[in-house]
Amino acid sequence: MKTKRKGKIAYVLLAINIIPLAFLGITILLLGSSMFTRAMYQEVEIELRNVCRNLDTTYDTLYPGDYTLTGGSSYRLYKGDQDITGDCTLIDQFKRNTGLDITLFYQDTRILTTIVDNNGVRITGSGAPSAVMEDVFETGTAKFYTNVLIFDTAYFSYYAPLTNSDGAVTGMLFVGKPTAEVDASVRASIYPLVVADILIMLLTSLFIFLYTRSFTSALLQIHGFLGEVSTGNLSAEPPALALKRNDELNEIAGSALNMQRSLHDLVEQDSLTALANRRFGDKRLRQTMKYAEKNGTDFCLAIGDIDDFKKVNDTYGHDCGDLVLKQIADILRRHMRNNGFVARWGGEEFLLVFENMDLAHARELLEKLLDDVRSSVCRYDDLAVSVTMTFGLAAGNGQSITDLLRTADDRLYQGKKGGKNQII
Ligand code: GH3
Ligand code: MG
Ligand code: MG
Repeated sequence: MKTKRKGKIAYVLLAINIIPLAFLGITILLLGSSMFTRAMYQEVEIELRNVCRNLDTTYDTLYPGDYTLTGGSSYRLYKGDQDITGDCTLIDQFKRNTGLDITLFYQDTRILTTIVDNNGVRITGSGAPSAVMEDVFETGTAKFYTNVLIFDTAYFSYYAPLTNSDGAVTGMLFVGKPTAEVDASVRASIYPLVVADILIMLLTSLFIFLYTRSFTSALLQIHGFLGEVSTGNLSAEPPALALKRNDELNEIAGSALNMQRSLHDLVEQDSLTALANRRFGDKRLRQTMKYAEKNGTDFCLAIGDIDDFKKVNDTYGHDCGDLVLKQIADILRRHMRNNGFVARWGGEEFLLVFENMDLAHARELLEKLLDDVRSSVCRYDDLAVSVTMTFGLAAGNGQSITDLLRTADDRLYQGKKGGKNQII
């Protein structure tokens, strides 16, 4: 098929498939990563809370009693009877085990902490953020934050109130993890999801593209085929791509092919004998001649006419004449198969074209054919009708179609005059 363009349908099909796919892919990506991130944050919250409770319990177990602050400017912090001022052993150990930062506040002041400033000095003595004081210290309830800025570093933070035996809030415990650390692990976990999502989208797009291409190629082939048939090419090449499919396109191509065949039969076939009609015979003769000229091959041509056919009609009737015509046509077709072609040239007149054949060979074939005609008997009711034929044979040797046909016709006339039932 000559059509190579893609066609609008291809673009429409691609668009209605790939645009929703892209939307779906992006939605899955956004929803997936946000759900994943939320789950990760929750996990961090649980981790921080557990460590915080653990630390609280450990202090209570080691040093039972309340947190109390004594002294003025040089304060001392006691847990029960134990002076824990400046004693970071326990929180350092927790940090080593968990990787998390810890601070113990008395009221709003950092007394013990694992967080250090740029010089590596613990940031004790500094105050808690006022929002945390309001949320945790004043209400006595623990709270998780995803973003608390402590000395230029953002933290995922868990703050829990420290209460004395009388129920009063005396301080807070902080457990935190740098936001950057959490985000890095979120990114590391989401990365495979993104890659998988994109890969699946690309693969699906590729599949859609290939399917669309094969679909539209088949469709365009049908289009091209119908175009050829509509301009009268009744031997246009069938739309092979569409005929190979097993969907409706195959059926459409099949129907188009049948239409071409029906048109061919209607326009190029003789309805009585099913031989090529004069119009198609003439077309094929021109093709044969062109081919022979181009390739330097031989061909011969004969015009045959049934002898005294009028008598058959007059004696046995027109229907019997038709039957004889059909039977003769069958004999001619059988002999010409693989040797060329035969067309019904007129009423009881036939054109025989011997392709790739010299005169001697054609004559030999024609003799056999005539023998067959002579010996064949057409049964009509109780009658047995036999006919003979006369042929004018000519070899194609460069002359025009008109001249060649005239030569054959002249020879046929000679044959008729010279007693019929012969080949000239
Ligand atoms: P000749 O040997 O000289 O060819 O004699 P002929 O009788 O065969 O030739 P003529 O041209 O006088 O008559 C041909 C007859 O063929 C006349 C016509 O009615 C008949 N004929 C032509 N076409 C058909 C057809 O389709 N069916 C039938 N039954 N007869 C046909
Ligand atoms: Mg005749
Ligand atoms: Mg005739």
